[in-house]
Amino acid sequence: MDKQLLSMLVCPLCKGKLKYDREAQELICTFDGLAYQIVDGVPNMLESDARLMTEEEKLEKAAGSTKQASAES
Ligand SMILES: [Zn+2]
Repeated sequence: MDKQLLSMLVCPLCKGKLKYDREAQELICTFDGLAYQIVDGVPNMLESDARLMTEEEKLEKAAGSTKQASAES
């Protein structure tokens, strides 16, 4: 996705910065815990279409790394 376009996009709810998840092709608002999907390179910024993330996902995205989850149980 175009970096310049990405930097212009903000969350429609809180007007905060979004985080681009390349693997999931989603734009993440960690504040609202919403993931906006990118379809064919075009971000769908409708709140009604956004995916509500789980608490676990929110923590992962906020931490910036999904690869360091420990195996605690
Ligand atoms: Zn937001």
